[in-house]
Amino acid sequence: MAIIGKDIKQAIEVLMACDVVGLPTETVYGLAGNAYSLEAITKIFTVKNRPTFDPLIVHTSSIERVQEFVKEIPEQAQLLAKHFMPGPLTLLLPKKEIISDLVTSGLGNVAVRIPNHPLALELLKNLDFPLAAPSANPFGYISPTSAYHVENQLGDKVKYILNGGECKVGIESSIIGFFDGEIVVLRKGGLAIEEIEAIVGKVRIEEHSSSNPKAPGMLKSHYAPRTRLLLIDDCLLAELNTERIGFLGFDKFDSNIPNENQLLLSPSCDLSEAAKNLFAYMRLLDARGFDKIYTNLLPEKGLGRAINDRIKRAATQE
Ligand code: AMP
Ligand code: MG
Repeated sequence: MAIIGKDIKQAIEVLMACDVVGLPTETVYGLAGNAYSLEAITKIFTVKNRPTFDPLIVHTSSIERVQEFVKEIPEQAQLLAKHFMPGPLTLLLPKKEIISDLVTSGLGNVAVRIPNHPLALELLKNLDFPLAAPSANPFGYISPTSAYHVENQLGDKVKYILNGGECKVGIESSIIGFFDGEIVVLRKGGLAIEEIEAIVGKVRIEEHSSSNPKAPGMLKSHYAPRTRLLLIDDCLLAELNTERIGFLGFDKFDSNIPNENQLLLSPSCDLSEAAKNLFAYMRLLDARGFDKIYTNLLPEKGLGRAINDRIKRAATQE
């Protein structure tokens, strides 16, 4: 079983041996390995059961260190980095040879992030290589937002999980690419579009599909609990008032479902609080053994857009 602790030295030992550790960040927990080691990268894909067409984000501790493994940082990317790094922002930048094709699934860009979490930053500062780290969940399942979520699902495959408490943002980073002078949001995430646009002006939001070559891995069905999740708009009212139905709401209980079967993401209508609770509450409801879990979409603004993206994917079965 994995050891859960706060000992950076122990995490470094495991990483130096080209093995993987659970990494706390402000978005979700990562499954981290030496980004320069093929052995470590291969281990990440194996432990997660992740298809190799789904590339990994590379984490480091400062924008200066990003230069070790990317060829150039466009001006707009520098501007965003200045405002939001460390933070829930991932930038796609042209990779140097030192980043293997396995990390980027053969793409010329590497995804780069500086996590805003004290333990993660301390770990990264004490390593002389960056860390490749996808979310620390089995492929397709809900992302982990605590060390115990990681232990629960990958504990038998990971030696050490660095415990940094509950993730403060709770959903994955926003991913931004720069293509022919255009700024494109490839994944809506923990940094709201409004905040990005306040710095660099209008951006294009690319709605993803599994056939989108610019953002492989953005599958229609993702982040899903084992219990079937459905949008409440799609339900038959007669079905609701039973023991067997769970509900994940935003700020109000659904009067057709017993209250004890419901969890509210943010009774005070706070989208940041809702993002922080989203995955943990999906897990809690998933563990209750309901036949189905119903949910509804949140206001399509700020972090609500990224939350809705996760809800829609979790409710998709293809
Ligand atoms: P995860 O770390 O599990 O949240 O997933 C990382 C996601 O980032 C992938 O599923 C891709 O959609 C995206 N990504 C990572 N690297 C690249 C890249 N080089 N080019 C485009 N998208 C990427
Ligand atoms: Mg993931």
